[in-house]
Amino acid sequence: MVGRRTLGIPLLLVLTSLSLTGCREAAVRYNTRYMSLMQERMPRVLPIPVDGVVAVQLENSWGQYREGGRRHKGIDILAPRNTPIRSVTEGIVEIKGMRGLGGQVVTITGPGGYRHYYAHLEEYGPQAIGDWVEAGEIIGYVGNSGNAAVSPTHLHYGIYAPSGVAINPYPYLRHGEPFAIQTAAK
Ligand SMILES: [Zn+2]
Repeated sequence: MVGRRTLGIPLLLVLTSLSLTGCREAAVRYNTRYMSLMQERMPRVLPIPVDGVVAVQLENSWGQYREGGRRHKGIDILAPRNTPIRSVTEGIVEIKGMRGLGGQVVTITGPGGYRHYYAHLEEYGPQAIGDWVEAGEIIGYVGNSGNAAVSPTHLHYGIYAPSGVAINPYPYLRHGEPFAIQTAAK
């Protein structure tokens, strides 16, 4: 009984450190800022990530059937090609690149370790992997890369809990405001 207990603790530590390897670089670079980001709460309301789109235009397409027996693990926000996409939270750019069905994707780790997944981009924002972004920063532009090549241009936006489980973004965006376009006023 005692033996099993002492074995369990190192195993837990190994598993924890394995799951954190992707974030290690950011953890070193941002230190306390990264630690406080992980301890923040995931906001209950998120702004709409696509310029010119308001909440009433959103369709809750979470869970819809997709080809190959897949279920839709996010929501699709329709917009013209090259419409700016803004990060809904502050966080750290974890992935920026081609990722299978998603085409050109950006993933940002935000408050509480929740991952925000932006897919089918036409073009990326200026950030590099490991960079810190503020909420509202342009991280890409709407397109139809990946398996959206035969679909109208849209942003596929997904949220993944720290456990890796996808959660429905729609309840977070339903009451969300669009980002004010500050550049237009300058
Ligand atoms: Zn989608």
